Amino acid sequence: MSDLEGLYRELIMDHSRDPYGKGDPSALAHTHHELNPSCGDEITLGVTLDDAGRIASLAWDGQGCSISMASASVMSELMEHADRDTALARIGEFREMLRSRGAVEPTEELGDAAAFQGVAKYVMRIKCAMLGWVALEACLRESQAA
Ligand code: ZN
Repeated sequence: MSDLEGLYRELIMDHSRDPYGKGDPSALAHTHHELNPSCGDEITLGVTLDDAGRIASLAWDGQGCSISMASASVMSELMEHADRDTALARIGEFREMLRSRGAVEPTEELGDAAAFQGVAKYVMRIKCAMLGWVALEACLRESQAA
């Protein structure tokens, strides 16, 4: 294992032990429930956007493997106060990084989410890592339509 992989592993463990943004999302304007049956992960994520289309609050609750929980946590930290377009672009970049099996290098925009690049090697874990991001994407699309 390289030093960087070790660092990333530690970051994922830290986030799964002490998840960021975990709380009751039910009072927020847009909520979405996402399930990953192949692993048993589930998450309910909610967001409220301000008048300028920025994420004013974000909360999620759920249970599952450490990758799914850590990824939702890292994402919550990364997306704080992001505007809708930036958030959607980051979700697209994260998905591309994972789907490319790690061939597409994470951009600076992804911050600590770069830690999940190694996950891309394991096809079964990609859905785990995407879970919270897909839920946020659904909330943002819904907010766009409203
Ligand atoms: Zn999982």
